[in-house]
Amino acid sequence: MNNNIITKILELKQKKNAVILCHNYQRPEIYDVADFIGDSLDLSQRAAATKAKIVVFCGVHFMAETAKILNPIAKVIMPDIDAGCEMANMISAEALRMRKKELGNVVVVAYVNTPANVKAESDICCTSANAIKVVDSIPKDKKILFVPDKNLALYVKEQTERDIIPWEGFCYVHALFFRAEDVIKARQEYPTAKIIVHPECLPEVASAADFVASTSGMVKLAKDYSEVVLGTEVGMCNRIKREYPDKLCHPLKRTAICVNMKKTTLDKVLNVLENENNEIIVPESISQKARQALESMTKIG
Ligand code: 13P
Ligand code: SF4
Repeated sequence: MNNNIITKILELKQKKNAVILCHNYQRPEIYDVADFIGDSLDLSQRAAATKAKIVVFCGVHFMAETAKILNPIAKVIMPDIDAGCEMANMISAEALRMRKKELGNVVVVAYVNTPANVKAESDICCTSANAIKVVDSIPKDKKILFVPDKNLALYVKEQTERDIIPWEGFCYVHALFFRAEDVIKARQEYPTAKIIVHPECLPEVASAADFVASTSGMVKLAKDYSEVVLGTEVGMCNRIKREYPDKLCHPLKRTAICVNMKKTTLDKVLNVLENENNEIIVPESISQKARQALESMTKIG
């Protein structure tokens, strides 16, 4: 059954000059049709560089929007247009404008997990993979407003010792499912494993772990160890097993599921390729300003 759909997707992809970009948290069967699997930073770079006419984005809305902003010529479509990121909805352009007014002279660093109009109000974007580098690139005397993830902001603040004011957003998967005790328990259960957590986790979870990394950072780190425990979305272990079939990977919590990431199915990928619906449109006035913030980030890497 799946094989049939996969064959149709691969045929259509070629016929229509389309690429399928896939976030690490997607279902393993989506990996099988993807041209590239990666974290937010990898995917934005791939989206910017592709010459394909159509980008089928298997991830959440802010990622597809970022792809469209960085590659306005391509038609960017999503298998499920309702796959949003709950953290990205914890900030609005209006609320950010008000906070900037209150704070006065601040540099706004926007995590890519934001809507396009929030990026348009920001000075520079970052992802979990390059947040420290981005903050390090800002002149030392500047105060930084970091939006919308409080935990990532606190992690970067600790690492860079910069004057960072965090927004009060969070990711329900990373901030609500994991506790420091889970890390302690995992050490007892898997004494030879390295514990890697995402920077969206609470500070006490990050401190208890061996490493803090973005999702692709986890893939790179896993190369060096035979066994890992991952404090992130449960699907990440599928990704590790695909890359390194012989390694052991345990999720820190089996219940840590991003419901929106799981909305993409093979049926929906086929459907959107056939119909070319669910197109991402970003008004040019917003797109231009958001692109500046994104390109300031991509220059840094
Ligand atoms: P990565 O950029 O590390 O893949 O993170 C994206 C995300 O949404 C994590 O929850
Ligand atoms: Fe958003 Fe959290 Fe899902 Fe990542 S895991 S897409 S931050 S809700």
